[in-house]
Amino acid sequence: MTGKLIIFSAPSGSGKSTIINYLMQQGLGLAFSISATSRAPRGTEQHGVEYFFLSPEEFRQRIADGEFLEYEEVYPDRFYGTLKAQVERQLKKGQHVIFDVDVVGGCNIKEYYGNRALSIFIQPPSIEELRHRLEGRGTDTPEVIQQRLDKAEYELSFSPRFDKIIVNDDLETAKAETLEVIKHFLSCEL
Ligand code: ADP
Ligand code: 5GP
Repeated sequence: MTGKLIIFSAPSGSGKSTIINYLMQQGLGLAFSISATSRAPRGTEQHGVEYFFLSPEEFRQRIADGEFLEYEEVYPDRFYGTLKAQVERQLKKGQHVIFDVDVVGGCNIKEYYGNRALSIFIQPPSIEELRHRLEGRGTDTPEVIQQRLDKAEYELSFSPRFDKIIVNDDLETAKAETLEVIKHFLSCEL
């Protein structure tokens, strides 16, 4: 039996990682998709765990070889992408693969896999609340927070393209709703 795909996209600070971490602990046989990136590893990040870390040259070569299901060049020489072979390997093992990708990547993966994939948009209650959460998380400088907020309006405009929108206002409600949607999706015959 091959697995299914569950895609999460959201503006930064919406609570996507918090909700994904919760779902991974629910015994649903979920595996996290390991993307490739040309950014440098941060902190304790390891090759093959958080990401496959490639140089920009290697990344370009693999694009030319058609190895990516989707990729984005977010800034010059800073690539993120999903390797086809990696996803297929996980699906063939019968794992259901969870993706944390930007809104464009999310739409592209959904288009490629059709009804084998469920795309979920995690929406913050407001931009103001997003600012509070990013400030509260304490991982970004004020400049980076402002950049993330500037991008959020654009990202929010993609929400109608997703199969499900989960408004993350009360966290416990959002977790429960997401779990319900995923259980239903996994129980459906293709
Ligand atoms: P993302 O992965 O989308 O960037 P995070 O999961 O890191 O977002 O969440 C951003 C911050 O907001 C974290 O500090 C998290 O604990 C907090 N947070 C997440 N959901 C809620 C919520 N419903 N209410 C208040 N704070 C939240
Ligand atoms: P970070 O550098 O903080 O790890 O990730 C930055 C952003 O890249 C995140 O918002 C994440 O959603 C996005 N991202 C991570 N992997 C991929 C991928 O494979 N494809 C695309 N399109 N975006 C990705």
